[in-house]
Formats: sequence, structure tokens, C-alpha cells
Amino acid sequence: GVEGASFYEIAAAHPERPAFLDPPAGSPATYGELHAEVNRLSHALRDLGLRPGDAVAGVLGNRPEFLTVLLAAVQSGLYMVPVSRHLTAAEIGYILADSGAGAVITEPAFADVVAGAAGEAGVPERARVSVEAPGDEPAGGFVPFAGLLDGRPAEPPADRTMGSVMLYTSGTTGRPKGVRRPLLDLPPEFAMSALRHTLAKHLDLEPGDEVHLAVGPLYHSAPCVHALLALNLGHAVVVEAHFEPERTLRTIERHRVTNTFMVPTMFHRMLALPAGVRDRHDLSSLRQVYHSAAPIPVDTKQRMLDWWGPVLYEYYGSTESGPVVVARPHDWLARPGTVGRAVEGVEIKIFDEEGRERPPGEPGLIYARGQVGFEYHGDPDKTASSMLGDYYTPGDIGHLDEDGWLYMSDRRTDLIISGGVNIYPAEIEAALLQHPAVADVAVIGLPDEDWGQSVVALIEPVEGALPQGDAAPGDAAPGGGLAAELLAHCESRLARFKHPRRIVFRGSLPRTPSGKLSRRRVREDYLREQG
Ligand code: ATP
Repeated sequence: GVEGASFYEIAAAHPERPAFLDPPAGSPATYGELHAEVNRLSHALRDLGLRPGDAVAGVLGNRPEFLTVLLAAVQSGLYMVPVSRHLTAAEIGYILADSGAGAVITEPAFADVVAGAAGEAGVPERARVSVEAPGDEPAGGFVPFAGLLDGRPAEPPADRTMGSVMLYTSGTTGRPKGVRRPLLDLPPEFAMSALRHTLAKHLDLEPGDEVHLAVGPLYHSAPCVHALLALNLGHAVVVEAHFEPERTLRTIERHRVTNTFMVPTMFHRMLALPAGVRDRHDLSSLRQVYHSAAPIPVDTKQRMLDWWGPVLYEYYGSTESGPVVVARPHDWLARPGTVGRAVEGVEIKIFDEEGRERPPGEPGLIYARGQVGFEYHGDPDKTASSMLGDYYTPGDIGHLDEDGWLYMSDRRTDLIISGGVNIYPAEIEAALLQHPAVADVAVIGLPDEDWGQSVVALIEPVEGALPQGDAAPGDAAPGGGLAAELLAHCESRLARFKHPRRIVFRGSLPRTPSGKLSRRRVREDYLREQG
């Protein structure tokens, strides 16, 4: 058994338990080592002048120290602000300044970019920290992490109080906004055991000798919360630097991974491996594979279930709300396409744009009530505009069935209205993804004189599938090649009005490392090219 309802208690009771499997040299391996590092960092942050309510930013790759920073923030009353390492210096600088970060922790690979950002945001030099591998040259202008912790007490600080994480939205609708939860004047064990109590229950997770694979970017909400949850359940965590289809399969097999969080593009990329490669791996240890963040085509999920068995758990939610509905594997098999049913304590309703409730079967905006409150840091107007009474909407369109199962159609901002009819890009993308030559696809609506908007599909072909020029159905000679084949592929799968008016090939599509497709960027890039 595992004693203790939070990381801190588990670490005190079972210091020898493995926290990270196969960690990089110099990183903690056991709960005891991680706890000592968390405590040393907590003392150090306090000495740097950070006080409850303040922010500490982390611009880190997937590595154990990300969790050190998070667990130190959680017991020091601080907000940890995870920042994507893919951002530019100006974007990082904006987040550092907006959150008022009193310290920033990074690593040598990102030190140059972060140095510029920290300078602009006015983070004091002694509070710019870099996590180095043993023997590495310290990054110029940064305090080495090991040096910062050196000589500080391994025991918890005396005045521990609950902190949290403040994640920034990816900012599809303007500047990124920090999503903040209220901090209560309670011990950190309270926040951690509440997380464990609600989430673990919704997701069928138990404390014990389980192995969690952290493969999505830890600065994104779902991978971050899953890794934190694992350490509050006594699980061992394998931190994978980034997703790589075959390597990730090998990791699952080698460490007998039992639970993980993935996004639909990862599934699609693993399914694209040759059958011989897929079948080579023993994945029988997997018991819960969670997915969320982006729509999954029914066909992709069915193929994953055929391959991995009934282990796929889907949930729907957002950084702001956390998971509000969950579909366990058998729930989905009984109702393919559902994203789940409300978890305990949450109510889901569908409203139209005028705030009238929609009956079962009728699409409208998805709203949820009953989650822990949040606010956008420094933007009360934005907080208010996402609410209808005490219901919050992530801005997605969907419907409920008679039994309360939720089906999500698409994001409201990506809806295509053509000839007065609503078209959901996700549905067309799902159909096109079924074609074996399609590695990835983005469907967008473009201004059209006759139709208002017309459907355009941008295709990333799999390696070796050579497109023979773009094509539109009205073209005199569609070229014969892949474009014509894809249009023919749509014939039996989609009503005519949903067929792409144009198919365009691209070497790659702007997918975020968190698995989201930025259709806004696809649209902007395309319009720019067209002049
Ligand atoms: P921004 O709003 O700034 O673009 P973001 O997209 O990164 O930020 P997240 O909180 O990461 O925001 O993502 C929430 C969105 O992810 C939801 O609104 C929804 O569109 C999508 N999503 C979440 N779960 C699912 C799911 N199961 N199926 C389809 N889409 C999902």
C-alpha cells in the first residue's frame, strides 16, 4: 500500500519509492530525493523574496525538474507559470511581465531566449536560474540550479501554504491569458488531496505501483496535471522528452507503463507505423490511456481500441474548467463519438447564442457548471464574457443526447457557414484522415462570393505519397493525382455540400506540441500566400 494522500506525505512515508524511472544524470530518482529537492527550492525561492501569491515561471523541456518547481510552488503559496519553450523572447517576456514572475527557471537550451525575455520583464538577475546537467558549463547570466539549492535544508519550510499553477492559454483570440484559481490559506496537502480525490475518481486511477508516462508537453494543462496527479498517487513517472511514435512504444514496453495522456495526432502517427513495427511491441501493461485537447475521428479511436484494447478514456474540458465530462472505454464503444458524460458535481447544458437552453439533439454552445472557480489574470471582462450566470463555456459547439452524453462538433470560431448551412471542419478532417496517404489535414472556410464561405482542405501527405498538383472539382483537368483521389474518397463519406472546393498540399501543418491544430494560422498563412 501507499500511505499518504499527497506527494508530500507519500514522500515522507516512502522515501525509497521510485518517483522518476530512468531520470537524466543529476535529476532526482526517488520520492525522497525529489522531496528534498522540492524543499531546498522552496527555501531558495523564499530567500529570493517570493511570497504567497507571487509567481515563479518555468521555461523547461520535459524533465523531472519541471515537477520540482511545481511541487515547490504548491507548498510555498506560489503560482507556477509554465511557459512553452517554443515561444519567442518577446512572447515569453510578455508572460513573465503579465504574471509578475519573481523568478524564472530554465535550462541551457533555452537560456538565450529566456535571458532576453527576463531582461525585458525585469526579473532580477539573481532570480534567473538554469538547470544544468552535471559537468555542463553554466549558462551565462544564470544562477545554476544546483548552486541555488546547495546547502539549503532538505526539510520542509515551516510556513507551508497552498499554491497552484497558472497556465497561459495559447491565445487563439488575442494575447495569452493566465488562468488562475483562487489560493486558499490552507496547507498544500489540501489542494493535492482534493486533486487526487476528484480527478483520480473520475479517471479510475488508484494509488499504488503504477507507472505514468509523461509524453505530452508538461507546460500544457493536461500533461502537467496528469504528472502531478501521478506523484500524488505514489506512481512512478517516466518523463519522455518528446513524442516519437516508435520510441514512445518502446518506452511503454520497457517500463511497463500503466497510464498515460496522449492527444489524437499521436494516435494517428502511431497508427501510421507499418503493422510489423506496431505488432513488435508488448503494450499489455497499459490500463488507462487518456486523451483530450482535440477532436478524435471515430475511425482513429476505433483502430486504437482494436490495437490497445478497451483502455482509452476520453475527456472534454479546458484549462479553465478541467475535465467536465468523461467517457470510459465501454461508454464510448456503446456510443461511438461521444466525448463523455458530466462528472460528479458538474452540470452540462447547451445554450444558443441568445442564452436559451437547447433540447437534446440540438446543437449549441457547450456550457458547464460546478467546477472550481477560475479567473483570467488581470482581465475580468474576459472572465465575465465566458460565463452565463454560473455556467462557463470553452466556446465549443455540441449537443447532448437524451441520456446526457455530450457530442462535440467543433470550436465556434472554426465553424464554416457555406450557403447558409453549418459545416464542421472536424467532420471533414476525420473523413480525409481515413485515407492512407493523409498524414494530417486542416479544413478551413475561406470567403466566397457565391457561398459566403467555401471549404478548403490543406493536406499533409504521408512520406512517399507524391501529390501531383492542387485540384478543385470544377477544374478542367484535376490532374489525376492524389487530389482527385481524395475528392473521390469524399464521395461515399460526406454529403456533397461538405466536399472541399479546393485541396492544397503542404509539407507540414501548424500543430502545437499539445496536439492542437491552429486553423487560424492555417487560414492566415493561406490567405497571405494567395496575396
Ligand atoms: P485557446 O483557447 O487560447 O486556444 P487552448 O485551445 O490551448 O487555448 P485548452 O484549454 O488547452 O485551450 O483547450 C480546450 C479546448 O480543447 C476545448 O475548448 C476544445 O475545443 C478542445 N477539446 C478538449 N477536449 C476535447 C475532446 N475530447 N474532443 C475534442 N476537442 C476537445
